[in-house]
Amino acid sequence: MGMGTGCKFALVCVDVLHGDVDRLFHYAIPQGMELENGMRVRVPFGNRNKPIFGYVLEVLNTPPDEKEILLDKIKAIDSVADDFPVFTKDTLALAVWMKEKYYCTLAAVLRCIAPGAKADGRFPTTRRKRVEVEPQPPPDITLTKQQQAAVDKIISVAGKLQRNFLAYEKRGIPPFFNNAILLHGVTGSGKTEVYLHAIQKVLAEGRQAIVLVPEIALTPQMVSLFTARFGSQVAVTHSRLTQGERFQIWKLAQGGEISLVIGPRSAVFAPFANLGLIVIDEEHEHTYHSETTPKYDAREVAIKRAELTNATVVLGSATPSLESYFRTQNECSDLIKYELLELPERVNKTNPDVTVLDMRKEMADGNPSLFARQFQTALSETIEAGRQAILFLNRRGHSSFVSCRWCGFVLACAQCRVNHTYHSDKNRMVCHYCGTGTTLPKDCPACGSKHIKLYGMGTQKIEEEVKALFPDTGVLRMDMDTTRGKFGHAKVLDAFRKGEAQVMIGTQMVAKGLDFPQVTMVGVVAADMSLHTGDFRAAEYTFQLLTQVSGRAGRAMHSGKVFLQTYSPEHYAITLAQQADYKNFYAHEMGVRRAMVYPPFSHVFCIMFSGPQEKEIIVALQKLMAIMNYCNEKDSQNRFIVIGMSPAFVSKIKNQFRWKLLVKCCQEEPLKAFVLYCIKKLKENDPLTGITVHLTLDPIMME
Ligand SMILES: [Zn+2]
Ligand SMILES: [Zn+2]
Repeated sequence: MGMGTGCKFALVCVDVLHGDVDRLFHYAIPQGMELENGMRVRVPFGNRNKPIFGYVLEVLNTPPDEKEILLDKIKAIDSVADDFPVFTKDTLALAVWMKEKYYCTLAAVLRCIAPGAKADGRFPTTRRKRVEVEPQPPPDITLTKQQQAAVDKIISVAGKLQRNFLAYEKRGIPPFFNNAILLHGVTGSGKTEVYLHAIQKVLAEGRQAIVLVPEIALTPQMVSLFTARFGSQVAVTHSRLTQGERFQIWKLAQGGEISLVIGPRSAVFAPFANLGLIVIDEEHEHTYHSETTPKYDAREVAIKRAELTNATVVLGSATPSLESYFRTQNECSDLIKYELLELPERVNKTNPDVTVLDMRKEMADGNPSLFARQFQTALSETIEAGRQAILFLNRRGHSSFVSCRWCGFVLACAQCRVNHTYHSDKNRMVCHYCGTGTTLPKDCPACGSKHIKLYGMGTQKIEEEVKALFPDTGVLRMDMDTTRGKFGHAKVLDAFRKGEAQVMIGTQMVAKGLDFPQVTMVGVVAADMSLHTGDFRAAEYTFQLLTQVSGRAGRAMHSGKVFLQTYSPEHYAITLAQQADYKNFYAHEMGVRRAMVYPPFSHVFCIMFSGPQEKEIIVALQKLMAIMNYCNEKDSQNRFIVIGMSPAFVSKIKNQFRWKLLVKCCQEEPLKAFVLYCIKKLKENDPLTGITVHLTLDPIMME
């Protein structure tokens, strides 16, 4: 069908995830069709003109250049799919930015931002009626001095941004102002009340707000706190909502009927027209990183979106990620800086009582049990007093390591300063950075004892031990196996709250739910589990987890105790967590990162190849490594460090083998260019048939 020059055109991204069609297509707009940017349309696509969905990126005012595209080859849009745009101006711009940032197709980003549709493409509906809730009169809360100062600062930053923006509209001077604030408040310092006050102010100005929380922290108490304050203006999203319920919230936000959305990372895309504030609570949590394509970081996305909408971002945590805290310091030069706000004091001014137990000593004294003697005594006293205990296993990911139960020695890579991880299929210990490895040692290289072996335990093993020691005590276990199903997680917590058991055992999941009045003991059974994961962030993660657990316990329990069992009682991540000393931890850990040139002093690029033939993957990756080494030698400044290649932590998924190559550099842009150039060179003489390439810059967990 030929299209005359009199008709209008649109640039459309077709809803096909394949990289080969990752570009925009021209379509003609039929006479009389009302079309806006961000709308979803049905278009004919491919040789057979198969009807598919597409998203209108831009309605063009001028016809495309005839040199680039023949006008009479342009197909016409079939129909408009909905009577509203599914993207706002800023979420469209955000999508284009995310595509570049996270190395994926535009269609994948658009699908991630758009509300979820049914298989036939229609948006789902729900019959559930929204309950109107009147906000209650604000409780008589007097903010502490430090809380009031924090609220004032947030409001002043928001005001400054607004004035800059107005000046920009008037005089065309582009606004440049840091729009992110890091709120470092110790556990129990009243961060939530600061958020509530700042949100109140933003809503009063007719703007909207988003609060991101890790899903697991989205407790009924937290939700009721927000609904009491803001009534029906607030909606909560979470993974247990049906698609229809989710779409209902999306429509309410788009129509301006609600002005506050609380939810996990995807809530950052709420389609508000006049966004004023994004709060990211517990900003250090790794759940802000999406593990599926697009592999985005909700914090980065929030800051970008705020820049596009002239909004303010508040990142809050008791244990900020090192990268975030680094951005508040003067030594950070080439990154966007964050303002630092501190709440150094707990509202109720009590500190948790934390005891570190040296498990090497238990071994030497002839106690081979999972629990130290003092731990057993405390547990027995708790049970006898009719109180409750939470036993916590801070296992992360899927790694296991070799350690000596006699002296605490852990097998590690000298070059990369991370621990070796056990690979069962090869029965070897491997460094997940440079790929070097060894066989399992028979004697401890440090003390010569025979007590060196694979270290690992599950919640089940702890449960067995508790049952053996206290056969008449009710025990609940909360892990992936016991929390399947829609409400599995809430069910276990509920049973524990009702007192159906005196002991609850769990992984990370239990760390957030420590507000139980009957709990007077919290035990971290094996603090070393997260300390030796073979990831350069292991110490940081351990410090965060232990500080959070101790802090929460100290807030909820009046006379409670926290026990940390470890074979490395002198490790700074443990001693400083015991004192909840973030600043010294930061200083120490930054010293290690600087010495090893790890982030935030560098950027790490992970290039992963996956495919059905392991040998082909290895050969292709070796070729890439050779190209990189060659190009790096030719680089006048020799800026790149090719760390090495190794199998992924999970080296085989669904019959696909996975290997990765790591390369680091102090600057982000040259690193990106270098990696993309080397891959292009590789593809020039190897088509990489059957191999999928995955690119991640600064992965938060080593894959
Ligand atoms: Zn030893
Ligand atoms: Zn290594």
